[in-house]
Amino acid sequence: QEGRNRFCFFSHDLEHSIMERHHLETRLRKALINDELFVHYQPKFDLRTNEIVGAEALVRLVNDEGEFISPAEFIPLSEESGLIIMLGKQVLNKACAEAKRWLDKGHIIPISVNVAAAQFADPDLACVIKEALLNNDFPAHLLELEITETALMIDAADMQNKLSELTSLGIKIAIDDFGTGYSSLAYLKKFNVDVMKIDMSFVKDMLNNKHDYEIVKTIISLGKSMGLVLIAEGVETEAQRHALIELECFMGQGYLFSRPLNTSDFETFVIQKKLQ
Ligand code: C2E
Ligand code: CA
Ligand code: CA
Ligand code: CA
Repeated sequence: QEGRNRFCFFSHDLEHSIMERHHLETRLRKALINDELFVHYQPKFDLRTNEIVGAEALVRLVNDEGEFISPAEFIPLSEESGLIIMLGKQVLNKACAEAKRWLDKGHIIPISVNVAAAQFADPDLACVIKEALLNNDFPAHLLELEITETALMIDAADMQNKLSELTSLGIKIAIDDFGTGYSSLAYLKKFNVDVMKIDMSFVKDMLNNKHDYEIVKTIISLGKSMGLVLIAEGVETEAQRHALIELECFMGQGYLFSRPLNTSDFETFVIQKKLQ
């Protein structure tokens, strides 16, 4: 009997989460159709000089109460529902349009856009990118795609073709969340990429966990030996900044420097930095 009670309880919970999910999907669909997605920008820094060397575009969805919903909540859902293709296209276009505005004001800031596995697998991706660059009159060399190693590996056989199709457009490719995926070293040498982003889960504890420190150190030497640009995510303290410089990783982003900012705050931030 207890079992039956439990069953009822769980089914009620499940119903609730299904309804919540449905609600979120409806919200997302509406935002996509009405062009109501926001994009925030987190600056990337030269760890030694404190100069801005780029920015990452991070999508934001607003709920009925006007609060921001975390992409960690709606990106998985948009991947499952296929909405990620439309979402990715919108974010890419907004990011290129925004970075073009900065450029026209004299701020040369490379922009990075996250690309989900389904987008990387989409045969239209190169076309979508070409269009975004053309429509916004934005130079290809200032656009970078951040792709996780897991997404790269989804179609391992075709990965190299896809990567060269993309790099032939003149854009840059970064491996995102490096160290958290399941690619083997044998595949790593086939990644024809420009940048390696060290996942923040390793940076977070690098100074209080010997293993994490060694992992960061190893990723950096691996990246360097492959001739890649290295960038650390989630830099929150001065001590981490110094440790990364010591290990010869010279780029980073994180709350130590700035949270992701809306377009007007980002612009103010950039102008203030230039005046310093
Ligand atoms: P990510 O690509 O690894 O992005 C970094 C996340 O860490 C962002 O969370 C950022 O706000 C947060 N972050 C930055 N600095 C710090 C720090 O110092 N400490 C901590 N604790 N966190 C920091 P956000 O914006 O919530 O995005 C979460 C994830 O959602 C992203 O992880 C990315 O995987 C995904 N995402 C965001 N925007 C897009 C998008 O336009 N397309 C796709 N496909 N995925 C996106
Ligand atoms: Ca990213
Ligand atoms: Ca990450
Ligand atoms: Ca991620």
